[in-house]
Amino acid sequence: MARDRHVPHYSQALASRAEDLFSPRILPPPRMAPRPWRESLAPPSDPAPLPVRVRPTSNSPTTVYPDLEALAPGHHQNVDGWIAGIGKDAGRGSRHKEPAVRPSRSTSPEKEQSMAKLAARLAEREKIADATYAFRFDVGGKPFAYKSGQTVDVIQPEPRYTDEAGNRRTFSIADAPGKERLLVATRDRGSAFKRSLVEAPLGTALEIDGPYGSFTLPSKPSDVYLLAGGIGVTPFRSMVEDTRERSLDHTLTLIHSNRTPEEAPFLEELIRWGVESAKETSTGKKKRGGNSGAAGASTATASGRPRFIYVPTMTQVARSARGWKGERRRVAPDLLDDLLPTDRNSAIYYVAGPERFVQGAVGALKTVGIEEDQIRFEEFPGY
Ligand SMILES: Cc1cc2nc3c(=O)[nH]c(=O)nc-3n(C[C@H](O)[C@H](O)[C@H](O)COP(=O)(O)OP(=O)(O)OC[C@H]3O[C@@H](n4cnc5c(N)ncnc54)[C@H](O)[C@@H]3O)c2cc1C
Repeated sequence: MARDRHVPHYSQALASRAEDLFSPRILPPPRMAPRPWRESLAPPSDPAPLPVRVRPTSNSPTTVYPDLEALAPGHHQNVDGWIAGIGKDAGRGSRHKEPAVRPSRSTSPEKEQSMAKLAARLAEREKIADATYAFRFDVGGKPFAYKSGQTVDVIQPEPRYTDEAGNRRTFSIADAPGKERLLVATRDRGSAFKRSLVEAPLGTALEIDGPYGSFTLPSKPSDVYLLAGGIGVTPFRSMVEDTRERSLDHTLTLIHSNRTPEEAPFLEELIRWGVESAKETSTGKKKRGGNSGAAGASTATASGRPRFIYVPTMTQVARSARGWKGERRRVAPDLLDDLLPTDRNSAIYYVAGPERFVQGAVGALKTVGIEEDQIRFEEFPGY
């Protein structure tokens, strides 16, 4: 079977030589950053640190390095109670397909009225890749109820900068449910909204509207392929973390395409999760603790297949100061032919990222024989 032949190859390769994915290079010493690379207000309790830290350097805009201390897994909480409270538009049928273009700013009266906006404050900000930031919001000092894969609209009532695009954006929630603070991540392309958020003092008042969307995991255990273009990894990080923490019986394969490692959000953390899953499977450690999550995270399914396989691919390695020895192909039919299972239409495929990536990846899936009903996609406009 194609999956037996190829996917374990990736997972074993990651387990044995995760560090070797990066070419050895002499990295220039860090210089004084123009602004702190990680900022945080005093936490309400003990939130997990963000996984990847990036310092500006003298010769290259950023240097990504793994911070294993900070890569500790997040809290293993029983989140069933939170999931019970999600909005009624969430988690519709497992074959629901997101529309090709969904407004990134709320224009729908239904959306305006369906949920109360929640007061929030900017609690943490961290540069996690080139021009890419993670933000944690404190929403009333308690976990925000949603399903992994859903979005929120973030509103800046008093942004430092303004333009015609307005003060509201849609972001996928990047954390598994149940955390004290809400995590989103975005690329700063210079819009007034993004510049305002990047420069806002910690503690700045914001509004959160949501959760929205049905780009969520199926309710039945499934073989799920997640295809992410760059920042499109945000909903998938949430799904993978959720699956780990609640020991869900999905098998997730995340194919994450970036131009360079420096531009890849959450790269080290996702590599680590893939390594853990492969190692746990090879040592025969299987699912424990049922779906409650109370017994802690598990990274192997009851069947013994890794719960999570991560396939990062860097398509413009020549531009990288750090280098890359792993996969380099674009998400195209030849790569998919190597990774997808023989019984391809028994799996479910999720695609997220910039419009061009989504269109290309959906086209590639169809080319290798995936039926439209098996594909869900979410396009991020503005990239
Ligand atoms: C379901 C969903 C989830 C998303 N999740 C994330 C996420 O996790 N991280 C992230 O960074 N971004 C996410 N986005 C995209 C995000 O909402 C912004 O559109 C994007 O970050 C660009 O914002 P900007 O301020 O840089 O550019 P903008 O100033 O908003 O826009 C730049 C350009 O895009 C055009 N544009 C903006 N919105 C639309 C639209 N709806 N239709 C057509 N053209 C448009 C503008 O006219 C402009 O030309 C998501 C979008 C959706 C719909």
